[in-house]
Amino acid sequence: MRRFGAILPDVKTNDVPPAVSRATPPDGQSAGLHAHDFLQRQVASIRPRLGLPDLLRGGVDPGTALRDWQQSLRDALWTILGIDADSVSHATPAWEIIDTVPGEGFVRHQIRYEGVLGGTGSAFVLVPGTMSDSVAPGSNGLAGIVALHGHGNMLGKELVTGTGADINGATPEELSELIGRYHSDFGARFARRGYVVITPDALGFGERVADRGAQHHQAMGRVVEYLGYTHTGLRLLDDIRALSILSAWPGVDASRIGVVGLSEGGKRTIFVSAFDERVRTAVVSGYFTTIRQEVEVWNRLGGWDLCNTLPGLLRVADLPEIVALIAPRPLLIQNGRGDPLYTLEAVAAGFETVSRAYTAAGAPGSVSLDLFDGGHRYVSDGPEAWFAQWLPA
Ligand SMILES: [Zn+2]
Repeated sequence: MRRFGAILPDVKTNDVPPAVSRATPPDGQSAGLHAHDFLQRQVASIRPRLGLPDLLRGGVDPGTALRDWQQSLRDALWTILGIDADSVSHATPAWEIIDTVPGEGFVRHQIRYEGVLGGTGSAFVLVPGTMSDSVAPGSNGLAGIVALHGHGNMLGKELVTGTGADINGATPEELSELIGRYHSDFGARFARRGYVVITPDALGFGERVADRGAQHHQAMGRVVEYLGYTHTGLRLLDDIRALSILSAWPGVDASRIGVVGLSEGGKRTIFVSAFDERVRTAVVSGYFTTIRQEVEVWNRLGGWDLCNTLPGLLRVADLPEIVALIAPRPLLIQNGRGDPLYTLEAVAAGFETVSRAYTAAGAPGSVSLDLFDGGHRYVSDGPEAWFAQWLPA
């Protein structure tokens, strides 16, 4: 794997506040002339085919109606993700430990695994305890957490573990600056709280990229598109494999697996939880809104890149409907009130949609919105209390 001396400019995805301006046509005559105005009107006129229906009407049991709708939406989303649903497996992929080192309050195993499309997945597995007592953990039924990193400088699992800066050319200073900015080392925090934690690199991040530069990142996105896939779909399949490995890890109770992620990792959390019902509870931080409403403020989406490509999504549904696929399993959504990527109005509207699904499922108390005063980052209090309630270690 090649190393590099200088850090190339990052793609500013979900990291940097975009300038906010509202596109206003100068008068009625020119409405539709400019692309932003024209496309905003297109978005406003779309009626999604599988938006969340009114599940409390029609004489059908709401829980049954919800499950039927969820199945229809999952079927449609596989196509948008570029994934053949029949190819998805919960089998444990081949994997191996390539390194084991002590961490602060845990032991860190570096693993490789058989990834999607013949690729090789990479992850850390953090096992609570010390080298002497965690190498051969007993079958005491520890809960497991899949901790999913975001976009920061194309680093990967290092962002959530706070360790491993030597692995792919990142300096300790770069890593600690990013973790300080996003408070993203939640994988390590949960390992110290007694969970077995797996932290898969997303395709194109961490060990899974040779060049962290913006041009390389954009080119990778194009190639994925030309092949007919999406980043979200490929990463979903790799994350499902990581979940399978965690479920099979010695000492882990496979019936007690949770997922948490920030930003791009929040999106990965949404998808793996929506599509893999082995996930018992989820915390989505810094990735919740309605895309439909964000388009009204054009520049907000300027901070999103090819990692977010989902062709035709708004013809079928919007992000809150995808999140509603997690119902009735316990779900915490965390957003900063000052996060420049999302309007509070859109977050509130999206949460109302998700809440309707939980109500229909008979579990209105299993979903919560954790709004904090701050920007685009993770705040540990809410998620740690959530896991303590719904998935104690
Ligand atoms: Zn990206």
